[in-house]
Amino acid sequence: MMMIDGSEGEGGGQMVRNSCALSLATGTPFRITHIRAKRSKPGLMRQHVTAVEAALAISGGECSGLAVGSSDLTFHPGKAQAGEYHFAVGTAGSTGLVLQTVLMPLLLADGPSRLVLEGGTHNILAPPFDFIERCFLPVINRMGPQVSARLMRHGFYPRGGGRIEVDIIPAPLSPITCAGRGELVEVSARAPYSGLPHDIAERMLARARKELSQWPEETFAVRKLPDDQGPGVILMLEARYAHAVEIVSAFGQLGVSAERLGKTAAARMRGFQECDAFAGPYLADQLILPFALAGGGVFTTVKPSQHLVTAIDIAQRFTGKPIRLTQQSDGSHLVSMG
Ligand code: ATP
Repeated sequence: MMMIDGSEGEGGGQMVRNSCALSLATGTPFRITHIRAKRSKPGLMRQHVTAVEAALAISGGECSGLAVGSSDLTFHPGKAQAGEYHFAVGTAGSTGLVLQTVLMPLLLADGPSRLVLEGGTHNILAPPFDFIERCFLPVINRMGPQVSARLMRHGFYPRGGGRIEVDIIPAPLSPITCAGRGELVEVSARAPYSGLPHDIAERMLARARKELSQWPEETFAVRKLPDDQGPGVILMLEARYAHAVEIVSAFGQLGVSAERLGKTAAARMRGFQECDAFAGPYLADQLILPFALAGGGVFTTVKPSQHLVTAIDIAQRFTGKPIRLTQQSDGSHLVSMG
């Protein structure tokens, strides 16, 4: 039984999700204690419980300590079964984070799967659907499997109500090299919104445009969604390179001005464009599972986040294989498996 202290490293919900995914992929049971001990509301939150329930549903595994508020969970994995699954994440939860939990095990299953996930599709502190579709899944597909995702309906935090569908055709994950991003091909700045005044989205976009003065004006676009898909707004700045895509997001939040959100997102995108790493900070932590399960491969990334360091630590423990993180002379970091 693998023992994990959930208060170590980043100490968040990602440790629980990654442990479930790795446990199913490797067949190793685990116990995690002090779950989210450093958070203001420690223990499992509803969305973490849903993610673990999804891991159990695809595998017939067993678990104790699975309840909202629990800080001690023991998980015995079953074998992931291909199939059609429908998970309703609840109002505030992120569909992307549930997908993070079940995708790797289903890639190792013995047939195609289809997932319907209902809940938030554009939630703060989680990968927005567009990020999953255009930054994350293309890398997975380069490794062998074929995974496609469709956004059927937006769901913003806290109301949720969104829906995504995912088709998974498994194949062994092959090690790949993602060293550089290649030439810049296209940029875009989009601000879909629903159930809010139009000018909030306009102001986010206008502030970002001021900072990203090199980006062509016609690439900035506001999009009004049906009112019943909100309320919510997100700004997504996207840079498409020959070999990599980065999407920097700013989520509309009560009490934070649209201008500040637009300015901060643009500064983060500028920072990414000024370096030559393949993966931005979020993609980097999300690539650890597939690369670790491929048992080889390398990618470059920006300054490592605590999420990345913690994901590496957990993956090394489940797979028993080293993952190295080395700073390169140009300031980027190389993550190499095996
Ligand atoms: P906790 O509440 O315990 O902090 P959590 O379960 O809500 O945790 P994290 O542990 O913080 O979530 O993990 C969030 C995941 O979402 C990480 O994999 C991170 O890369 C991803 N993520 C967060 N924000 C973004 C974003 N803007 N774009 C892409 N991915 C993101």
